[in-house]
Amino acid sequence: MTTTICEHLTAVTTVKGAERRECVECVRIGGEWVHLRTCQTCGVTLCCDSSPHRHASAHARTAGHPVIASAEPGERWLYCYPDDASVEY
Ligand SMILES: [Zn+2]
Ligand SMILES: [Zn+2]
Ligand SMILES: [Zn+2]
Repeated sequence: MTTTICEHLTAVTTVKGAERRECVECVRIGGEWVHLRTCQTCGVTLCCDSSPHRHASAHARTAGHPVIASAEPGERWLYCYPDDASVEY
């Protein structure tokens, strides 16, 4: 994990957590996920890049929302897709 911090990460002042512990897109299509990530722009919780459908990175690309937070218990980090930057909080 890098220690690069970009403007998108520093713009996050309050970290959004997962309202429900499920990927809303996978639930819709009957898919399965490995880990969950929460978009810090709109608050949607989606699945990680280790999951078959990679909904979080697809959302970041199509919606233009750069930063996600891990929604896994005990994990406290943010990640910015366009800058490949991450930070713990
Ligand atoms: Zn960034
Ligand atoms: Zn998913
Ligand atoms: Zn979003």
